[in-house]
Amino acid sequence: DKPLLDIKGLDVSYHLDGDVYAALRDIGLTVTPGEIVGVVGESGCGKSTLSASLLRLLPGNAEIDRGEAWLKGRDMLRLGEEELRRLRGRDIAMIFQDPMQSLNPTFRIGSQMAEAWRSHQARGAKFADFHGEAVKALTSVGIPDAAERMASYPHEFSGGMRQRISIATALLLQPSILVADEPTSALDVTLEAQILELLKQLREDHGTAIVYVSHDLGTVAELCDRVIVMYAGRVVEENDAAALFDNPSHPYTRALIDCIPSRTRRGAALATIPGRVPSLSALPPGCKFAERCTMARGICSEEEPGLVPQAGGGVRCHMFDPAKAEAWRIGDQAP
Ligand code: ATP
Ligand code: MG
Repeated sequence: DKPLLDIKGLDVSYHLDGDVYAALRDIGLTVTPGEIVGVVGESGCGKSTLSASLLRLLPGNAEIDRGEAWLKGRDMLRLGEEELRRLRGRDIAMIFQDPMQSLNPTFRIGSQMAEAWRSHQARGAKFADFHGEAVKALTSVGIPDAAERMASYPHEFSGGMRQRISIATALLLQPSILVADEPTSALDVTLEAQILELLKQLREDHGTAIVYVSHDLGTVAELCDRVIVMYAGRVVEENDAAALFDNPSHPYTRALIDCIPSRTRRGAALATIPGRVPSLSALPPGCKFAERCTMARGICSEEEPGLVPQAGGGVRCHMFDPAKAEAWRIGDQAP
């Protein structure tokens, strides 16, 4: 399928106190219509920086150094603020970990949704239809008495309900792609399951493509068609979800998967990968994962590996040899 969203060679830096930190380097990401792509990696790997880049909603001290971000034939990195505003909501929308990041506490939710609808009018939507469409969107995400609740303020809802409202607001415009940055991490497991169901439903009903950011690989395995694994601002592995979880190629992916709490290990201490993600101010040369990697050899700490193609995506690892992929996956030793 032709990609709906096509990110190529994206580099983003943060500027802080006169220093420049490389937050994203050479990021590639494609999303086809109706596809759900997972973005995983530990805290600090650049997932939120990537999501914000997709809508050009980066903090003020961030700079896009390089790259292309094609959405429906336009390179978002080269659009002016006015064109971007029109694109946001209508073509690409975002929901956040904290729904209050997209909801304004001082306005009734009905007025906020109306505001979103106004930007939709360019597409020929009539304001006369707003009320009905808003009630439909709120009802579809499970807000009871939607018509009356539109007069309420965000604080009059629970956290789970607020996240539903921010999803409904995003839905109102029927964007072709929705970027969800850890939309459930502030919710309990029951609410999380409901939000995941909602996202699946969205794809079924409207063919919405979704970029789903999470550090919870369990939910990613359940929801996503394809996955990119990020480490220290790089994509270290990309593959179809089934292949990635069955046959992880990158040692980092494998380590992450080993940390997924399983039913059989319930009650056991939560596994983590020894060591930590390097800070942007102290990125090692070579492979950024080398110092935590059980398979690292000399070259790994000297040279940064390129992305080696594998069926379904790629792997950024010196030790990965596509010709010996089977042996590599079965044994724990480098081939
Ligand atoms: P988490 O899982 O905790 O949400 P993340 O994968 O979303 O993490 P980011 O928030 O994108 O990671 O951060 C990537 C790196 O950029 C981190 O090292 C972080 O400290 C740094 N960073 C994020 N925002 C800024 C900023 N405004 N200025 C400087 N550095 C930043
Ligand atoms: Mg984040």
